[in-house]
Amino acid sequence: MRSFIEAEKAIPGNFLEFEDEVSPTYEAPALMKDHDGGPVVMFRKVSGSEFAVAGGLCGNRDRIFRAIGTDREGYYKSLIDAVNRPIPPKIVEEGPVNEVREKPDLDKLPAFLHYEKDAGRYITAGLVIARGTDGKFQNASMHRLLVLGKDRLAIRIVPRHLYALHEEAKKRGEDLQVAIAIGLHPAVLVGANAGPKFGVDELGVGNALLGGRLEVVKCKHVSVTVPAEAEIVLEGVIKCDEEVPEGPFVDLTGTYDIVRKQPVVEVVSMMRRKGAIFQSILPGGAEHKLLMGLPKEARMYDAISRAVPEVRGVRLTLGGSCWFHAVVSIKKQSEGDGKNALMAAFGSNPSVKHVVVVDEDIDVDNMEEVEWAIATRVQGDGDIIIVKGARGSTLDPSSDQVRYLTSKVGIDATIPWDKPREKFERARIPPRDRQGRTKG
Ligand code: MN
Repeated sequence: MRSFIEAEKAIPGNFLEFEDEVSPTYEAPALMKDHDGGPVVMFRKVSGSEFAVAGGLCGNRDRIFRAIGTDREGYYKSLIDAVNRPIPPKIVEEGPVNEVREKPDLDKLPAFLHYEKDAGRYITAGLVIARGTDGKFQNASMHRLLVLGKDRLAIRIVPRHLYALHEEAKKRGEDLQVAIAIGLHPAVLVGANAGPKFGVDELGVGNALLGGRLEVVKCKHVSVTVPAEAEIVLEGVIKCDEEVPEGPFVDLTGTYDIVRKQPVVEVVSMMRRKGAIFQSILPGGAEHKLLMGLPKEARMYDAISRAVPEVRGVRLTLGGSCWFHAVVSIKKQSEGDGKNALMAAFGSNPSVKHVVVVDEDIDVDNMEEVEWAIATRVQGDGDIIIVKGARGSTLDPSSDQVRYLTSKVGIDATIPWDKPREKFERARIPPRDRQGRTKG
């Protein structure tokens, strides 16, 4: 993470440092929100803690692309390749994370209280690493962690891989050993969210995105490996026999998630770098949305490419929380491609609710252009499909919250094949030469 921050500092406008002391209660999160989607934000002094805080590392697409060595055309393939061909990180004896070992005191970590109705101070950039039941693989996933005391956290575990490991351990009456790594290279976080299948170490996906540069060290108290350059690692267990109320907490929708009974993590040891930098992700901020959404875009690109001849871009838009709204641009080759792209988009991502398909002349990153396409290329009686009663996202407060059923709306905003294309093309001013004279 440090080397990445240094590299970002060298790019004008990509780094913002606050030297003065800030409060972890609302003040620091408010500053992160002010600069959401912009620079890496560094708080040098946070009240009540000796650690500096870095935020916004994955705050915009371009920064994420720099972190994984790709660009807006190439990232779909980078992510899919990394998921399909993870590279096991190299195990080294010692790394910077081994510099200091001490008794944990979570009250002294600069975990922020973000929003007015939040349950408490949350660690938001913790990568939770656990070993599979057969001992052969490890799993790494990001979870929000509510600070309960000096050595206790509540962990929100949605029913996925870590959930399965914890359930297995519970059946045996055992606590699940975990390490929680904080302060990581963005590629490691992107890899952790890339969604490889169960049994694949997400650190290997991050390593593939880093071109094989990731090194890991063994933990002392738990049988997992963690990135050697992590800033802070907490070692402990997820208890098999204790649950506490967790939440409210702001999800990527920017609305509050409900209170649920969730497991407790007991922390037994902490290792860290000297002068460790704590990492923070603003809940509901651009970074939160992009980390969740980007891997889904890659999978959608892959699936839609099987349904229509040429996909130019897939975006889960920030306005749609990088979760509900997709814009897909295609190079249409026959009437009906737009509709097929819509169906493939819905089929490849159950969380998506509204999809707009546009032609290749529309920039999927420019919502004004997308709206212009809807304005000039759509007739509501033929270009909109509505599917009632489909499975939707649990995060959508407008859906049927008992069965999570939702209506899907697809808008085919491509140029109709049977009409003259020039009627839909954007007028342009001819280019001028150096003297300002119009050419040709
Ligand atoms: Mn996994």
